[in-house]
Amino acid sequence: LMQTPTAIDVLVIGAGQSGLAVGYYLRRVGLSFVLLDDQPQPGGAWQHGWDSLRLFSPADASSLPGWLMPRPPDNGFPARAAVIDYLTQYEARYALLVRRPVRVAGVRRLTAGFVVQTDAGTWQARAVVCATGSWSQPYIPPYPGRETFAGVQLHSARYQDATPFAGKRVLVVGGGNSGAQVLAEMSRVAKTTWVTEQEPRFLPDDVDGRVLFMQATQRYHAQVGAAPLPPPTLGDVVMVDSVREARRRGALGSVRPFARFTATGVVWQGGREEAVDAVIWCTGFRPALPFLAGLGVVLADGRVATAGTRATAAPGLWLVGYGSWTGFASATLIGVGRSARATVDEIKEFLAAPEA
Ligand code: FAD
Repeated sequence: LMQTPTAIDVLVIGAGQSGLAVGYYLRRVGLSFVLLDDQPQPGGAWQHGWDSLRLFSPADASSLPGWLMPRPPDNGFPARAAVIDYLTQYEARYALLVRRPVRVAGVRRLTAGFVVQTDAGTWQARAVVCATGSWSQPYIPPYPGRETFAGVQLHSARYQDATPFAGKRVLVVGGGNSGAQVLAEMSRVAKTTWVTEQEPRFLPDDVDGRVLFMQATQRYHAQVGAAPLPPPTLGDVVMVDSVREARRRGALGSVRPFARFTATGVVWQGGREEAVDAVIWCTGFRPALPFLAGLGVVLADGRVATAGTRATAAPGLWLVGYGSWTGFASATLIGVGRSARATVDEIKEFLAAPEA
């Protein structure tokens, strides 16, 4: 891998769906750019999902700018492999230059622009876009005694399928879509307990991921003052086939969190002890931004202060695809295009200013 002696306009860190969407618009405005990604293959976090993972929206409601995701032959929701395929072809279709595997270790400020340090040399760029997602930073909430528990602990980031847990006593922790889907297939083979902060909120059967996008879009319009605040959301958990099937078996009951771990299990609020073989943490992720530490812009919760996608404390730095704090629905295939487009508009203006 070569070193770039002269500065390029824009360096994009991460070439998952978010990085590719940014690349699509950078190419259209004619700025010079490179994407760096630490994985050996295209597809971003979709390479690491569990075996049965499918999108919860149809293909044409799960597309990046410019090119619709092809519909699967059965017209159902695309499987994980189909998304990887789509992202692989998208990259080639728009001739997006991705260097991989290249891991970014640090970003330093220059008088104008940035130096980006990697395990394959350094790059200089006038602007930097972070699009590193969150898959590499699984989050596990603090539970007393967790380090003393001798059983298996696995975060959903590393979960593949339920077979290793057949016949075991398993806690599935977390009330979102990951928790519901892991519970659904785990409960077919294991003795499961679903642990959630609150009663999970299931969406009606006849809506899919499109409704979540619509709700996010309404919140976005309300925030920019163009519409009244929408009514509270209908729910969080999309009733995909596996989750409906689990409901038919009566497997979707949930309990509130336990108080602490023991070596062999957990102690529930109220004192009852229970033996447990494994805990699957479906408790979410944090932004993958450790390489920004040197810029002093990362807050205690792992986020960066932003206006839209622009880092307010670091001119020339943008963050795309991390969720609602970087744009409503920006962590979805269909939602990230809007953020990517606005980001590239801002970068173009920034680089045209005389001081940039
Ligand atoms: P990523 O896909 O994580 O890509 C970031 C890339 O940057 C990765 O390749 C990563 O390895 C790389 N990287 C990280 N750090 C560095 C570094 N320091 N240097 C270089 N490279 C680095 N969305 C939908 O639209 N529809 C769905 O149905 C849907 N279902 C989902 C189901 C699950 C279980 C999950 C977890 C998410 C789902 N999402 C869905 C959400 C969303 O589409 C994904 O989270 C998406 O992968 C985010 O894309 P991204 O490009 O921002 O990040």
